[in-house]
This record gives sequence, structure tokens and C-alpha cells, in this order.
Amino acid sequence: MIGRLGVFGIVLATAALVRAEVPPRQMALTIDDLPSQEVARADESALAARNARIIAALKGTHAVGFVNEDKLEVDGRVATHRVQWLRDWLAAGIELGNHTYNHNGLHQTPIEAYERSILDGERVLRPLMAEFDRAPRWFRHPYLHAGQDDAVRARLDAFLAEHGYRVAPVTVDNGEWIYARAYALLLDAGKRREARALIPGYVDYMEAKCQFFEQASKRLFGREIPQVLLFHANALNADALPTLLERLRKRGYAFVDLDTALADPAYRHADAYRGRAGISWLHRWAITEKKPKAFYEGEPAVPQHVLDLAGVEGE
Ligand SMILES: [Zn+2]
Repeated sequence: MIGRLGVFGIVLATAALVRAEVPPRQMALTIDDLPSQEVARADESALAARNARIIAALKGTHAVGFVNEDKLEVDGRVATHRVQWLRDWLAAGIELGNHTYNHNGLHQTPIEAYERSILDGERVLRPLMAEFDRAPRWFRHPYLHAGQDDAVRARLDAFLAEHGYRVAPVTVDNGEWIYARAYALLLDAGKRREARALIPGYVDYMEAKCQFFEQASKRLFGREIPQVLLFHANALNADALPTLLERLRKRGYAFVDLDTALADPAYRHADAYRGRAGISWLHRWAITEKKPKAFYEGEPAVPQHVLDLAGVEGE
């Protein structure tokens, strides 16, 4: 007969075993295109409900949401009910950041207009955050376009510093936007069941992406650094986030704030990448170190049937 202590001992041993299999990991969650990537294709009540579900899933995760203020407008005017959606984020203890006013990419926009779009992107955000004794301090480049030459990069760095911003990099870059487009199109067509059927594959795909960038981190730094995951405020994540976050927790991830993740010295690595594409910072650092082609091989791809459903040619 096993006494009470004996059972306790077995439970402890089992817990230790599980811990040994799953290494402790850290991840900062970042969610872009608030209040919603899909303001143009859903009615206000659906958007409000999705916003509430995303907030509920992210509460307590130390996530940061990145806002495009043009998405607060209805018929050219800032809609107070949409501002309230953002206030709900802050009230839930989730920080907000600046993702420019209109989501124009730096590589298609003159730097003067880009800087204006950053300032236009905090007209609502700055006073709103002041209600919570906070100020916007994170900046996320639309399309992760971070500048194609040294002059623009230096000017933007100085501008962001002057206005109290720090760049929020991404390490787990991914094709979530393609799943989201497929999901939205199926919802538009009234095919809710088919849309929901995409979620298990989406979660598997996102986990595979995490695994890929964990390996990239090991190859570059000899260890796993805290990752920064990017996804968007959309119908897909309103429905899939609880499952996705549960999967990541099972993978050993503790969700930390951006300050904690970026305190890792890896994030001070030089970034000489000046290419056009919006890629993972792990790859920017690898390019800076002139890693061979093999370094980038094996990245999980969005399956063809999802590309087809989304009407997207390729990633
Ligand atoms: Zn975006």
C-alpha cells in the first residue's frame, strides 16, 4: 500500500520527468493591426465580440498590441466605440504600441511621410494611454520593413528615440496572415464549420514555426533566446488563441513582457540587413554574420490548400 507521502513522491517524480522533457522557454506575444485587421469586412458587433475574445485570451500574458489609428475611423472620423475597444485592452493590463497611422510600409513611403504617420498614429493612443498613466513606447514597423539603407535607418532610429519609442523586433515571423485570410473568406461565405476546421492545422503550423526559430536561435547563439511572436487581431485568432496559447504553454513557454525578452543580450546583436523583405530578426542577425544558405533551410511552409483558400500565390 502506498501511503500519502508515497503518492506525493510519485507525483513529484512525474512532474520532474515532464519538466525534463520540456525545457523552460520564454516568449513575448505581440499582436498587430489593432483594433482589427478586418475592420472593413465585419460589422461592429462582430468586431467588438472578437476584440473581447482576444483580450480575454491575452489577459495576464504581458502581450503588447500594436495600433493603426486609421482603423479607429468610421467614415473618416474616429469612432468612440472603437476607441473603447482599445481602452478595454489597457483596462485588462495589456500594453499598446504604435504601428503607424495607416500601415504604409517604410520601403514604399518617403521617410518624411513615414514619420508623420508615426505621429498621426499616436493622436488617440497617447491621451488614451495617459488615462492609465502610461505612454506609448513600442514601435512595430508595418510589414517589418525596417529600412533599406543606412541613412533612412539612422534617421528613423533617431526619430523613434526622440519620441520615446523602441523598436519591437519579431523572431517568430510566420504566415499566420494567410491562414487569417482563408479564415475570413470562409466566414464571409457563411462556411463557419470549414473555417473552424483550419484551426488545428494553424496551431500545428505555428508550433512548427516556433520549433524552427528555436533551432535557428541555437545555431546562432548556442542556446534558445526569448522569442517574440507576431500575430494579428483578426477573426482567426479571436477563435484560435486559447488553443494556440495552450499549445505554446505545453511547449514550455512562459509569456513575458517585451522588456524582459529584449533584455537578453542577443537583442543587442548587430543588424546589417538592409533587404526589402520583412523577415525574422534571427535571420537578420544570421545575414549579418554571413551564415551559409543551409542556415535558413527547413522553414515550415503554409500548406497549398490554405494558400488556395486564401487566394494567395505564395508566402
Ligand atoms: Zn501590421
